Amino acid sequence: MKQTANLTGLLQRLLEHSRPLYSQGKVADYIPALAQVAPQQAAVAVATLDGKIFSAGAAQQNFSLQSISKIFGLVMAMNRLSDELWQRVHMEPSGQPFNSIVQLEWEQGIPRNPVINAGAILVADVLVSHYSASKTAFLTFLRRLTGVETIYADQQVYLSELEHGNRNAALAYLMKSFGNIEAEVPQVLEHYFHQCATAISCEQLARSLLFLANRGVQPLSNEIICSRRDAHRVNAILSTSGMYDQSGEFAFKVGLPAKSGVGGAIVAIVPQFGVIAAWSPPLNPYGNSVVAMQVISQLAEELGLSLF
Ligand code: GLN
Repeated sequence: MKQTANLTGLLQRLLEHSRPLYSQGKVADYIPALAQVAPQQAAVAVATLDGKIFSAGAAQQNFSLQSISKIFGLVMAMNRLSDELWQRVHMEPSGQPFNSIVQLEWEQGIPRNPVINAGAILVADVLVSHYSASKTAFLTFLRRLTGVETIYADQQVYLSELEHGNRNAALAYLMKSFGNIEAEVPQVLEHYFHQCATAISCEQLARSLLFLANRGVQPLSNEIICSRRDAHRVNAILSTSGMYDQSGEFAFKVGLPAKSGVGGAIVAIVPQFGVIAAWSPPLNPYGNSVVAMQVISQLAEELGLSLF
């Protein structure tokens, strides 16, 4: 049963119980700007469809959105392209690390799904090719979803990724060699790194994705963000692939569509109820935050949120 009475107290308790897990993870350091983030920080926020927000810890502090940006990019691309998108990127779990290259060559430059790096770079190509100023369009979309006009991309993180993005560049050039990238690769990578560098807080993130828990309609403004069918499709992809090669375990333990990012955040969609966003920088070997995983798992269990 989904109860919100005393939810703030429950969030505080779960966060405090999970903090000892800091030491079991490691802050992402392959992007030098992210390595500078203090590890011992954590937050959780729950936004509900009736407009309430509950939180604990540093829930208004900004962190790097990283791969969670893949959700927003995908929704924008689905709003621009019809089913032809699904000929250029598939919807199967990869069972591989998020930045793996091997599968992409075997499968002729068609990424397994839009939430691994290759897939998100393909989506970035769609955005660059369909918007005159795709980076601004991305920020405008997030500002509209959060109602916060000051959402921005952190320049230091953006430049750091641009400088150290060789693996993502390799994925992009490989796809280009198969004819699956239309725009010029440097422009596509710039868009991708820029969206990953978005700075956001747990409270803002939880609010921004309420439309996925509400069949495509942002409940606070009643605005249609995507079709009901596309909200279903995004949730389906997040359920099977959002936690990379730990997606099966996450479904087994938690049973909610979810997405992680190497900034340390995880967001989980609870259809017809709301959105949970948790953040803490230390990551497990799959690139998923150890504290955020634990907080979301326990919250889902306590409130009986699993879809299964
Ligand atoms: N910007 C990061 C990268 O491309 C995103 C990865 C992630 O958050 N899993 O490597």
